[in-house]
Amino acid sequence: MIEGLEPVPLQELRVLGAPSYWTVEGHLDQLTSLTPVRGQLKAEHRGNVLIVDGELSTIVNLCCDHCLGQYNHQLRCSSSELIWLGQSPPTEEELQNSEDIAAMEGLAECLDPRGDFDPQQWVFEQLNLQLPVVNHCGEHCPGPPIRPEAAVQASAEPLDPRWAALRGLQQP
Ligand SMILES: [Zn+2]
Repeated sequence: MIEGLEPVPLQELRVLGAPSYWTVEGHLDQLTSLTPVRGQLKAEHRGNVLIVDGELSTIVNLCCDHCLGQYNHQLRCSSSELIWLGQSPPTEEELQNSEDIAAMEGLAECLDPRGDFDPQQWVFEQLNLQLPVVNHCGEHCPGPPIRPEAAVQASAEPLDPRWAALRGLQQP
């Protein structure tokens, strides 16, 4: 839980009539990160839409799909999102009547106007979208790991004579 990112009733944002700002500094429950998530976000109630902007960054530890090694990966995003405020997704007509929406594409979500906006959930979703589909530790990736028993045999001294014989066969 990041302090200060408690859900806010959308009605409250509407009454405010101005953007709300949050400073993000802390660890998310749903996403384990090495460094605190840092950044800021802003939400503005514009009648039938909520405009959310944010810049976030953190470092997560991932497991490489190729070598199975752990590596650190920076997540950084600068996102803006329009959230439709209505009990159901907007109709064609409602979309056309909204200037804000006409200016942007990609209406991803809809929130009940009597409900809350959850800044922490938004932060989590944005960072989660930045996670790579395939984890790859980088150009220096050693590739698939040697099977553990083979690795032990390769480094253990003295060599088991049966393995030594096998090695002899493998070497040209
Ligand atoms: Zn790797």
